[in-house]
Amino acid sequence: MRLPIDRCTNPRLDADAVANLKLSNVPSDHLYIAEYAHMEWRKERIAPYRPLQLTPLSLGLHYAQQVFEGMKAYRMNDGRIGVFRTDRHAQRFNASLRRMAMPEVPTDMFANAVHTLVDLEREWVPPGPDSAYYIRPFVIATEERIGLKPSEEFMFLVGGGPFRPVYPKPLRVRVERQYTRASKGGTGYAKCGGNYAAAMLPTILANEAGYDQVLWTDAHEHEYIEESGTMNVMFFINGVLTTAPLGDTILDGITRDSILVLAREQGIPIDERSVSVTELRERILDGSLTEAFGVGTAASVAPITTVGIDGEDYHLEIKQDALMFGFKQQLLDIRTGAAPDAHNWMTIIDGFVK
Ligand SMILES: *Cc1c(COP(=O)(O)O)cnc(C)c1O
Repeated sequence: MRLPIDRCTNPRLDADAVANLKLSNVPSDHLYIAEYAHMEWRKERIAPYRPLQLTPLSLGLHYAQQVFEGMKAYRMNDGRIGVFRTDRHAQRFNASLRRMAMPEVPTDMFANAVHTLVDLEREWVPPGPDSAYYIRPFVIATEERIGLKPSEEFMFLVGGGPFRPVYPKPLRVRVERQYTRASKGGTGYAKCGGNYAAAMLPTILANEAGYDQVLWTDAHEHEYIEESGTMNVMFFINGVLTTAPLGDTILDGITRDSILVLAREQGIPIDERSVSVTELRERILDGSLTEAFGVGTAASVAPITTVGIDGEDYHLEIKQDALMFGFKQQLLDIRTGAAPDAHNWMTIIDGFVK
């Protein structure tokens, strides 16, 4: 389906400016919008990027009935533009929406919204390794109401902007023994705004203590490693790629899944199991834990060099030939077209806008 497009008449940047952009938080010129009322999505359109009109009593602003996704479009080596694993993001979006009692967005509607927006914004997709156009689909509850109730009106929006390569220093993470990101039966597996608001104070406290990120542990004992910041976390222990199993406290990361697929194909042994803090400490000390890294759409693979446990810092050497950098390169090669896309992970963006 062709979406109605109200084109922006004064584009803010041209392709040269986008390629030279230093910042990552500049929105591109257009926004996709759809509205939900009377049990159906309607009024799909693309409009110039501008502030929204919302009633101050929108339920989403008070009760955090809100869900989002984060995904990327890449400029490939031959100049074409590809979006990574749209279907998988659509499925996760719907899992999050169901948890928050919000209406699902049909997969083809999600895909058409994302791909049409990216096609329209192709000048905004920066070239170069690790650069991308970051895509932010989200749904907010817009019904006007003071009292608590599940909203019956929503907006589905997709925006985005250029994402410049970040070459962060290897991470210093602190095992969190007090605060909780996610608990059994809770919303940890959903990408809903409330999870991130609740993580802000613990993250600030970890920053103040000299760490980049929190290493989240289970809500019950604060002893089993779950995730790091807004990334899934992986370890190499005696050559085995080890990561927490999916469940209601773990966000089902698409980078996590992609790396597990690649590792399995290469015959790298995988163990999806919980690693305790006690084991983490012992295995860093005896050298059997050789790599620790976060995985997510933003950084792809982020090496961890220091783990703070109960006031003590434990160090990991980051080697140039580490296996984690192999995964990072393989993902990059698929995204740039340097390697064949054997799993059909990329959607080539062409012909969505007339
Ligand atoms: C988004 C997110 C991830 C990573 O998921 P990707 O699909 O790989 O980007 C991991 N953990 C949390 C808490 C997240 O919000």
